[in-house]
Amino acid sequence: MKIDLAIPFQDSCAQPDTFIWGFSSDGLFKSKSAYYLSKNIARSDDSWSWIWKIHTLPRVNYFVWLLRHGRLLTFDTLFNWGISESSICPRCHQTVETINHIFRKSNFSKSLWDLLTPYPINTLFHDTNFNDWVFAHATYSDTSQLGDWSTSFSFITWSIWYFRNQLVHGGKSFSIDVARDFILSKIDEFNQIHHTASKPKTSTTILIGWTPPHPPSGVIKLNTDGSAITNPGAAGAGGVFRDELGNWLLSFYCSIGFTTSLSAELWALRNGLRLAVDRGYSNLIVEIDSRITKILLDSANSNFHSLGVLIDDCRAMMSQIPALQINHIYREANALADGLAKKGAKSDSSFVALEQSPSELCNLLFSDCIGTMFPRNIVMR
Ligand SMILES: [Zn+2]
Repeated sequence: MKIDLAIPFQDSCAQPDTFIWGFSSDGLFKSKSAYYLSKNIARSDDSWSWIWKIHTLPRVNYFVWLLRHGRLLTFDTLFNWGISESSICPRCHQTVETINHIFRKSNFSKSLWDLLTPYPINTLFHDTNFNDWVFAHATYSDTSQLGDWSTSFSFITWSIWYFRNQLVHGGKSFSIDVARDFILSKIDEFNQIHHTASKPKTSTTILIGWTPPHPPSGVIKLNTDGSAITNPGAAGAGGVFRDELGNWLLSFYCSIGFTTSLSAELWALRNGLRLAVDRGYSNLIVEIDSRITKILLDSANSNFHSLGVLIDDCRAMMSQIPALQINHIYREANALADGLAKKGAKSDSSFVALEQSPSELCNLLFSDCIGTMFPRNIVMR
């Protein structure tokens, strides 16, 4: 099997190699994170009271307790007890199924952390002792876009164990995208219920669909998307430029090699912006459906981020477009770009620009053109 790793080379000015503080979201030293680190090293987690302080469901608190105490019945444990004939991981069949493998080292869990962690997973953090890692995350009170991180962490680990059990006992395998959505819905559900405990619940259904750029004329809308078949996995990028009538102006797709969904999102945006600069599109609205990508563009310190090369390149091209907006939209409004990204992921092409809509995407184009809307339930905060 041939694997091409997606390694982005910088278009804009190159940054020298640099050290990164691994315990903060932006790679910069913070005394608060150092405090957690020092607590971590000092092993002040032996009172266990922190487990019950995690703001989560009681059964998830209990799960974290089992996790921290190594009480989960992995094949490694069952094998050592003489109950199972094999200790091998039922998902990858490549290594012993230890707790560390299930929750941190397997490609499946790494992909989920990559998608769900609001700051870059770094090797230091990831290579700490497993118990220290649980403690550090479960007591990390960073209010990210997912809400309280310790809450999210509890639901992510609980879900990873749930997916593992679904696979072992039900033969059911979840794709990374489905797994991510499942986890996000669990976290959201919990946060909503908690939120409504103090305030009246206001949830509403809105209709989501692609809309053309509003007049004055001359504004062009670019939708981009990245797609990894597994995460990480063979990934593609795609994007489409349309005018105020929804007419197809130009699109692109490409295979970008083996990488993560987040990297593919940034890759797609970079390609789209580059194409816009090349074509002289000076009045542009860009829509992406990855909230994390938008946050990275707005606030990441690219010197300290593993995807800094792509972030820098995007910013460099953004500065060359006189009138530019970059908006986050829901996935329902980004179906055409998603179709192109998937096409890219399945192709061998390094870059293809299309002046006409490919026939297999005509339905999606038509659907956007006539203003098809999809319902989505949102919580009003
Ligand atoms: Zn495995």
